[in-house]
Amino acid sequence: MDKILMTTPLVEMDGDEMTRILWSMIKEELLLPFIDLKTEYYDLGLEHRNETNDQVTADSANATKKYGVAVKCATITPNAARMDEYHLKEMWKSPNGTIRAMLDGTVFRAPIIVKGIEPCVKNWKKPITIARHAYGDVYKASELKIPAAGKVELVYTRKDGNETRELIHNFTGAGVIQGQHNLNDSIESFARSCFTYALDVKQDLWFATKDTISKKYDHTFKDIFQEIFDAEYKEAFEKSGITYFYTLIDDAVARVMKSEGGYIWACKNYDGDVMSDMISSAFGSLAMMTSVLVSPNGYYEYEAAHGTVQRHYYKHLKGEETSTNSVATIFAWSGALRKRGELDGIHTLMEFADKLEAACVKTIEEGKMTKDLALITSIEQPTVLNSQDFIRAIRQSLEETL
Ligand code: NAP
Ligand code: MG
Repeated sequence: MDKILMTTPLVEMDGDEMTRILWSMIKEELLLPFIDLKTEYYDLGLEHRNETNDQVTADSANATKKYGVAVKCATITPNAARMDEYHLKEMWKSPNGTIRAMLDGTVFRAPIIVKGIEPCVKNWKKPITIARHAYGDVYKASELKIPAAGKVELVYTRKDGNETRELIHNFTGAGVIQGQHNLNDSIESFARSCFTYALDVKQDLWFATKDTISKKYDHTFKDIFQEIFDAEYKEAFEKSGITYFYTLIDDAVARVMKSEGGYIWACKNYDGDVMSDMISSAFGSLAMMTSVLVSPNGYYEYEAAHGTVQRHYYKHLKGEETSTNSVATIFAWSGALRKRGELDGIHTLMEFADKLEAACVKTIEEGKMTKDLALITSIEQPTVLNSQDFIRAIRQSLEETL
């Protein structure tokens, strides 16, 4: 078979620990034999981030703006322990945070569905994708403990010195207060990323807030979504046969539990934090969760939702066998390759991405899986494979279909 040719490079962001090991195995076994792989390589491994004073992270985000599609390996977000372990010059920021800020994007997380790894919610048949707004609200709030009786107000001082005041509460005793904010620009970017992604995957988009109670704050979210939808996306949604659906957050939660899945659920920052953990754990495993950052300008960065699997890496370093699940990282590659194929009109590349994903699913459905899945599968007597053998088993399935 001739290798599939690419015209534009993918931005390749290498990472850390066990996922870095999986990364090179995936390239070796599942990509390089079949594709004339073109990438622009950025080493986001912590050592190299430290050497470059984290410039490499910014460079990789700029390259994503240039080429439009990136694939990222999980990376360490430094903490105090990592400062010593890697002799860091500084406690570098989370690369995901830096990239997200530079691309102004929203992260979409979706479970990979396979027979034998059944969701706890028995009526969920298709993936539910969570889109979490990643700016503001309680995550950037100011708080005060009110020690005793007194008046608390919100004060907005305009540039010309004029003030607008709103009473929060006349305290007669001790209590607490909190001031939250958000920005129209950020809500608009969030809305555009959601509409763009819904069109991309041809799935309905749900959005929910508590606008009946929060008549200015949450209502602004509702209004901005509706205005942007009506002005920029309505026709395209109709053409694609998908819908935008707004409801109250409590109604949304009830409907999600009774639904079949197969839609995108856009959430405000706090709702997204809470609901994404509910959705991912109910679908089975963090190792089966994909993640894609979509910018309002249509740049895409694909990755796995899990981290660098540090515990497995330390076993690997000691020469012990590991059974780390590479599926979400493989799907990051297939997602990026499919998008590259779509943008460049390379049908064979898109087809390859489909076949690679199908090979992962088939391998697991045949009972060949890593330990994390063997613990939760309904398939009887699964074969537990190590990290390398699992990838080789996927290669075998893939070769049968090519
Ligand atoms: P983690 O890497 O997601 O792993 C937590 C645990 O989940 C693992 O110990 C393992 O459980 C299980 N697990 C996760 N992915 C798995 C896989 N592919 N196959 C099998 N089991 C899997 O989270 P963490 O240990 O809290 O974080 C490690 C590092 O990752 C940290 O430095 C953190 O900063 C970074 N991180 C990066 C990203 C990112 O780049 N997007 C996201 C999150 C965390 P068992 O040990 O029980 O087998
Ligand atoms: Mg959380």
